[in-house]
Amino acid sequence: MFGLKSIICVGCAASGVSNMFYDTETKRPLFIQCGHPMCSSCVTKYKDCPVCKEKVVNIENYAARNIYEEFKKNPLIVFKKWFKAELDDKEWCSNCHEESPKLRLCITCELELRNLGIEYVENDGTDWKDFGQRSEILRKHEIAMNRWRGSASQKWLAPRPELQDEKKWRARFRCEYYILANRLICSDCILDHLDHHEDHVVKSLQELEYTPEKLKQGSSFVATNFIWSELKSREGNCLIQTMKLHRTCEKLARLAMFYYPYSNESIKLGDTHNRYLSRVNKYFESSPLKNVDKISIEQGDTWIDILEKQISNLNEQRNCGCREVWNEMHSLYFGNQNEKTFVEVINQQENVVVSECPLSAEHFQETRNKALEASKIKLFQIYTVFCWNCDRNGICCIFDNLERKPCICSGCKMATCMDCLRTNANYKCFHCGNRFFNQKFGEERRYNVDEAVMDLVEFYTTNCVELFEKWWACEASELSFCLSCSSYSDGLEVCAFCELSHRMNVLRSNKKIYCSAQFHQNMPLFFNFSNLKTFPIRWQCSDCNKRLEANWDHKYCGDQRSAEWIGNWNRGCNHLLTRVYDTKTCSSYDQNADKCEYNAIDLKDIRYYRNAMKVATMGLIFRILKSGIESVKCNSRRTKLLKIYGTLKCQTRYYLKKMMDDRVISEMDQLSDNINKLIEELKLGWASLKNHETECTCTRSRAHPEDSDDWFESFCCLFPTK
Ligand SMILES: [Zn+2]
Ligand SMILES: [Zn+2]
Ligand SMILES: [Zn+2]
Ligand SMILES: [Zn+2]
Ligand SMILES: [Zn+2]
Ligand SMILES: [Zn+2]
Ligand SMILES: [Zn+2]
Ligand SMILES: [Zn+2]
Repeated sequence: MFGLKSIICVGCAASGVSNMFYDTETKRPLFIQCGHPMCSSCVTKYKDCPVCKEKVVNIENYAARNIYEEFKKNPLIVFKKWFKAELDDKEWCSNCHEESPKLRLCITCELELRNLGIEYVENDGTDWKDFGQRSEILRKHEIAMNRWRGSASQKWLAPRPELQDEKKWRARFRCEYYILANRLICSDCILDHLDHHEDHVVKSLQELEYTPEKLKQGSSFVATNFIWSELKSREGNCLIQTMKLHRTCEKLARLAMFYYPYSNESIKLGDTHNRYLSRVNKYFESSPLKNVDKISIEQGDTWIDILEKQISNLNEQRNCGCREVWNEMHSLYFGNQNEKTFVEVINQQENVVVSECPLSAEHFQETRNKALEASKIKLFQIYTVFCWNCDRNGICCIFDNLERKPCICSGCKMATCMDCLRTNANYKCFHCGNRFFNQKFGEERRYNVDEAVMDLVEFYTTNCVELFEKWWACEASELSFCLSCSSYSDGLEVCAFCELSHRMNVLRSNKKIYCSAQFHQNMPLFFNFSNLKTFPIRWQCSDCNKRLEANWDHKYCGDQRSAEWIGNWNRGCNHLLTRVYDTKTCSSYDQNADKCEYNAIDLKDIRYYRNAMKVATMGLIFRILKSGIESVKCNSRRTKLLKIYGTLKCQTRYYLKKMMDDRVISEMDQLSDNINKLIEELKLGWASLKNHETECTCTRSRAHPEDSDDWFESFCCLFPTK
């Protein structure tokens, strides 16, 4: 397993760079004269070799480079060798580069170079040899004492020499993996260099109490990270097979890290979800370390076999089109649905070698048709044509092509109107919470206008009546669009805790208890009619990726930054951080609660969900309708349409309010009929515009068009008669 040393740069390892692997550009593999491997960028940084302290003299080592390139061709070979290493395996001598069953480390030389550390193990009474441990402890103690004596601070306590506890503890030498792997030499080389090591203490790995287990632990970080960093960049034609490859690799790496946890405490590996290892991680079940113990280590062998076959198949994958479908679905805002299907398929075939795209052409067509149908009038996207700056009264505005152009936030790609940005130099994006502009002093601001949103505004205003009709008739699920990930979703959710404690809360419970941590999970919740209009920005789909990335500090943690967020319109949920990273402690966070379920309430579970979705979007849909009607050139027609619009708005609002109040009475049917009639009228008026392209005279001849409808209709161009 010491072959692994050919893939890491000792310079990078010594300086704690997280990516210590070579690449073909800035970190090319080189060897230095002492025989230790270093990358081309470290060669310029280091004067002395971090392992043996010899002067760094850069030499091209073609043989070593070949080994490295061989490893890169099939990174699994390195991993497999490491994963399956046995006690009697031969290992590489760092002097002659031959494989040998007996490797030695010269304690005297390593101590001189300060390469050895001390670790304490329980003294179980069996004999142990002191070949320098005691004096090393004393030396370290002496250094510590000197530092203590010289220090002005009285808080320091003098460290006790651990030797006093020798009955309980004993010391042994420990060496960082990258040093160890580079300093072990075979018994033949020791004999050859006897003049150099004369009178030195030379020990075998067994004498140093290195077991294969321990060696694997020391190198698991290198082995697992190498396959992961190599495989994640490899892609075949078929996206789903590529993803399967990555997923298996991720699981294998996780398994290996569980059975051989890296012994260096300073590197902690968290939940896979936190680290975004695979592209669609959000749908794969998370694999925290604590769940891995249910998988046997033999499973690793199966995964290695699968991976080997799939890597070799990578270049022969047929162009199946699943990558195109993936992209197309995202552009149609059906990304999440599609991703789910992919993940389902990948999970089903977990332990099978797949050499054909598992999705059929029919499946693709079916998905595509569904998405196209639903996206015709783009109802679920109405949220995106508004500026959600809620500092202004309610939501700010619908975008236009004048003062209120939509400008893209560089952080989250959502738009804010130019007017809001111009009037507030320190504007923070309402979607992601980041400062909108990060320009340096004196630098000019650049407004990045979102043309796609402009097109959408245009589309809505031309089809505003049709859009309204569709909205009135639609199912609540058709309004489910997650602003956070720009995807249509039928599973919107919201954090009950945050909503109930919000300044303008849209949820309410029967009793008026706010801000108490433990109650909301079992208390019935209701929607709060009057606050619903600004709700969409706070709901998120259950499939959202962004919510995991959201960089919010928890406002109940007493975090320094949190004060400025209180009462703000935060995007999504303040518990995001604690849901994903349990790094923060906070009184309202229940450590024992399931992290991912904490306080998230499915909107569907709340009574009158259907109506609430309408109420929440009512304001938006009426604004679109109004701006559509206002763009009508003919003065008289516009006035007429605006009148219908006014009545329609009143009646719709009244209708929905009654429905939400749980007072469904007989007049409801009557109301709904009225609304339908008004929509018909609107449609008729709107349709007649199409035959009326030339500008009519009424705009010029009448100063006060509201004066008298009858007079005006007879005067004006052909207005549809009822
Ligand atoms: Zn390096
Ligand atoms: Zn060296
Ligand atoms: Zn040798
Ligand atoms: Zn020596
Ligand atoms: Zn943003
Ligand atoms: Zn605005
Ligand atoms: Zn989402
Ligand atoms: Zn919350």
